[in-house]
Amino acid sequence: MLALLQNCSMPLARAVRLPPRTHVRPCFTAVGYASISPRANSQSQVLLGLSDKELQQLALDLGQATYRGKQLHHFLYQRKLREIQDFTQLPQGFRNTLEEAGWKVGRSPIFETVTAADGTVKLLLKLEDNRLIETVGIPVMVDKGLTRLTACVSSQVGCPLRCSFCATGKGGFSRNLQRHEIVEQVLAIEEVFKNRVTNVVFMGMGEPMLNLKAVLEAHHCLNKDVQIGQRMITISTVGVPNTIKKLASHKLQSTLAVSLHAPNQKLRETIVPSAKSYPLDALMSDCREYFQQTSRRVSFEYALLAGVNDSVNHALELAELLHRSGSGYHVNLIPFNPIEGSEYQRPSKRAVLAFSGALESSKITVSVRQTRGLDANAACGQLRNKFQKTPVVTDPFDLAVTDTSMPYNNKFAVSS
Ligand code: SF4
Repeated sequence: MLALLQNCSMPLARAVRLPPRTHVRPCFTAVGYASISPRANSQSQVLLGLSDKELQQLALDLGQATYRGKQLHHFLYQRKLREIQDFTQLPQGFRNTLEEAGWKVGRSPIFETVTAADGTVKLLLKLEDNRLIETVGIPVMVDKGLTRLTACVSSQVGCPLRCSFCATGKGGFSRNLQRHEIVEQVLAIEEVFKNRVTNVVFMGMGEPMLNLKAVLEAHHCLNKDVQIGQRMITISTVGVPNTIKKLASHKLQSTLAVSLHAPNQKLRETIVPSAKSYPLDALMSDCREYFQQTSRRVSFEYALLAGVNDSVNHALELAELLHRSGSGYHVNLIPFNPIEGSEYQRPSKRAVLAFSGALESSKITVSVRQTRGLDANAACGQLRNKFQKTPVVTDPFDLAVTDTSMPYNNKFAVSS
């Protein structure tokens, strides 16, 4: 995290102060921005994702006082406004200057929402290149009050890893998401639910470790700017060589969730094809190092597939693997959520209980994930859309843009 902060601040020191209403366009990069001529970069620049310090520097560069940068921060992360022209407490001249210099907020329209019977909401956001990503809001209600709101965010458009049980992998891969495209998913969930997001899990479309730079930047923004505690954020991975160590070096206080799905290498390769390049022993050793470096326990996700990996013997083998690999582990069982065209079946309740019981009696802490959003195809492993590979060509769905003043209630609701 410290390294990230240092990276962010370095180019700012080099930024050139610009006169107001200049047409020279500042070019934001992942680690800051530098001033370049408009011809060098015709793309618009995005405010969302910039830190307080970066926004103050931007205000200075555009000939304003630094407090204007603090105002920008307030409009982006507290008021959560979508358009620069909605920043009405800023002088009209400054708003125009920002737009003329190519800046925009960086929020995407909600293309479609689907609400499940249990209140889980799946949003499809239409990105600037007309590709769609899915993000899921999962509320926990107690006595009709919202006690927790989890945002399950995507890190890629589609996914290249093709895990055999996962709809996203079957839908193909287009590109990595940028920092602001991750952050905006959380803001969209807050907008729809009219509530603060309390927890973020990087378990939507995509493999976060294949887009680690943007994921770390988004994590930083969600923590520092959107004010979500690091311990409330979970980063998941199916395992990508050399990335868990990299993540551990940032010493985040967030949970690492590793999708294991099998207790041995041979079976794992049949469920997770990418495991061929990352032997189970190496993966477990990297997880042990993550725990040692961060003191945060690693959570192992295990999708239970009927007749494939859900026997008591598999559970005992898993317990043995975890005991061999150290301590600080937790197993999260996920009974398979059905997807179209899949060869897998959901296990019986009895099989799930027998599996979790065998782990418990082997002194492994275990929980069974409650299935949420099943009827909206918003449950784990179900996120897929036909526009993750090819962009939306025309936009006949303008009418589908959600009226966010009506949470839980829209025309695409599967059930209310
Ligand atoms: S489970 Fe995750 S890593 Fe595997 S294909 Fe699906 S999105 Fe990709």
